[in-house]
Amino acid sequence: MFVSAKPNMTSMKCTGLGCKEDVDFRVYKKQITSSSGLTVDCDVEKVLSELGSILPANAQVTRSAATLDIQSLCDKCWAKKCVGWGGDMYLTVAAKAASDGVYFNTSRVEYKEDMLADKAMNMRKIRCTVVHEIVHWTVADTTQGFQNAPDVYGMRGSDWDECMTDYLALTTFKRLKWGAYETGYNKLPTFMEIGMTLLKAAPARLFATVGANLQAAFPELNLVIAQPNVQAWQVEVERVRVPLFEKLALRYVKGNDSKVDPGEPATFSAFLQKAFLIQVNNKLNDGSRGKYNNATY
Ligand SMILES: [Zn+2]
Ligand SMILES: [Zn+2]
Repeated sequence: MFVSAKPNMTSMKCTGLGCKEDVDFRVYKKQITSSSGLTVDCDVEKVLSELGSILPANAQVTRSAATLDIQSLCDKCWAKKCVGWGGDMYLTVAAKAASDGVYFNTSRVEYKEDMLADKAMNMRKIRCTVVHEIVHWTVADTTQGFQNAPDVYGMRGSDWDECMTDYLALTTFKRLKWGAYETGYNKLPTFMEIGMTLLKAAPARLFATVGANLQAAFPELNLVIAQPNVQAWQVEVERVRVPLFEKLALRYVKGNDSKVDPGEPATFSAFLQKAFLIQVNNKLNDGSRGKYNNATY
């Protein structure tokens, strides 16, 4: 007979169909609870309400907590899900959103303190990840956004969809006053930070062009590109990061239908192409709505 070494441990089961495996934590609609007895508030209704308050009036959240399916899966059930999602690339991912809900790969070390398997759960990281996935589920999946925009300057996993999702999740998180925001994928900082880092590191031959395009696309930022000087460019990118992401996020949730300001190109894809030299294909061009492809997590 198994005797728990820790008297406060609570046995929590994987939510996979028919599965009886224990998991280290469970995400519920009101809170997150770990098997060692830690609990943090994570009210989905509150997340949706705060998210709604930062979105433009005509791009409100159209999904409610009642229709959100949350799954906290063991590694075996996660692997089964990956087959349905179409690939092994998700095996090592901490979480994923889909049209039908949000999924957590509870066995990942990204949810632990110090990324070590024997460490305690990091409830803060789990909560940040939950908010991030809820933004995917409610905004990215229901609006025409960046779902099919390519990676930022060719870095896999740092695509514009992730940057915008992370921006909205970070902003929501701040409004909830839930502390520092951090997504724990692959030991990297937030996707938004990656986007900015890559923009700063735009190849020398491109950066003068990218800078000039940004200058034209965002005249209100008064972007200064005096010389093709890498250091000055990095300072400028840092200076404009907040208004840049605010504006991109508005475009993200509003899609092609309404221009944020009359000086912008008529379509979202033309806007991206003009501002970032990004060639956007398929769904964004044909005017259909967003919806997840297989590369969203
Ligand atoms: Zn399971
Ligand atoms: Zn994501």
